[in-house]
Amino acid sequence: MKIHAAVIHEMKKPRPYRESRPMSIEEVELDGPGPGEVLVKMRAAGLCHSDLSTINGDRPRPLPMVLGHEAAGEVAEVGEGVTDLSPGDHVVFSFAPSCGACSSCLSGRAALCKPGAAANTAGHLLGGGMRLHKGGKKIYHHIGVSGFAEYTVASRRSLTRIDPELPFHIAALFGCAVLTGVGALVHTAGLRLGQSVLVVGLGGVGLAAVMGAVGGGARQVIAADIAQDKLETARAMGATHIVNSGDADAVEQVREISGGGVDIAAEFAGVARALEFAYESTARGGTTVTSGLPHPDVRFAISPTRMVAEERTLKGSYLGGHVPSLDVPEYIALYQSGRLPVDRLLTHRLKLDEINLGFDRLANGEAIRQIIDFD
Ligand SMILES: [Zn+2]
Ligand SMILES: [Zn+2]
Repeated sequence: MKIHAAVIHEMKKPRPYRESRPMSIEEVELDGPGPGEVLVKMRAAGLCHSDLSTINGDRPRPLPMVLGHEAAGEVAEVGEGVTDLSPGDHVVFSFAPSCGACSSCLSGRAALCKPGAAANTAGHLLGGGMRLHKGGKKIYHHIGVSGFAEYTVASRRSLTRIDPELPFHIAALFGCAVLTGVGALVHTAGLRLGQSVLVVGLGGVGLAAVMGAVGGGARQVIAADIAQDKLETARAMGATHIVNSGDADAVEQVREISGGGVDIAAEFAGVARALEFAYESTARGGTTVTSGLPHPDVRFAISPTRMVAEERTLKGSYLGGHVPSLDVPEYIALYQSGRLPVDRLLTHRLKLDEINLGFDRLANGEAIRQIIDFD
């Protein structure tokens, strides 16, 4: 079938993007769903910093590609062997497809699925290859989702069926921001009632982490960013303290507030300085978690002696360490009961042809979560 999609052909185009237009809206061909696959009519897709990282070249991907990995839609057609989804079902995408059979999946670490990671790196679907093309040339999928398109074909194992009462523009947020942010604290760091938490980097994922810390019963939730308006937003979402991480004495401020360092520091800014700040702000015996994705060449130096003598833990967190089909419905239930107000992350709603302008806003720090609505 012919569909419209936002296609990126080249990374590192100059800003402003509304002029350089790194993504062009084009008519492309989408094949029907193969075995184990589903054709989804896109209804809402979020603009995430990880998309921006491909646009600006920090996270290189094979091109041309249709980006977008935080999305929700409606099942239009199911491929052979898909028996548990039907046309009309509402689904949220996961950007980490899980095969259900590899050692990672079998040990409950679906976000680390080995065939899923290999397919994502290649720009293929879990079942192999691509379903998008134009003029005989293949177009790569973005981590199994490719949300910036009117329709997409995805593996069944990239999809979670959700409550049809939930509006699509809210549902999409559960695909990346909520899972990644909340999960970094409650899964990866194992947040316990009464602990002190520092969240560094207050984009959509970081603010979701603030909500997760509040909802998870943290005693102190210290929010840090270099942008004062984001600090105020975090306070409105329940942060008990705010620290401008651009201040020369930011680490001392956190140590003062928390009485010597926080139990858990989580970093979402994707820059080495922010991770250093998080690590230095963590108490002896504490845990530092990072979900930031700086350029792969970036390095971060730590003292092994301090790590040993102070029993420090440093952990990476991908997709919040979640099993989406298990966790997404639970988080949606928390949202519906008012305990995880993820709608507060939403600052802008736009149309697909405004996508370059939307990425200008994200790059300029003028937006938290922007959602593209599809008719
Ligand atoms: Zn994302
Ligand atoms: Zn697997």
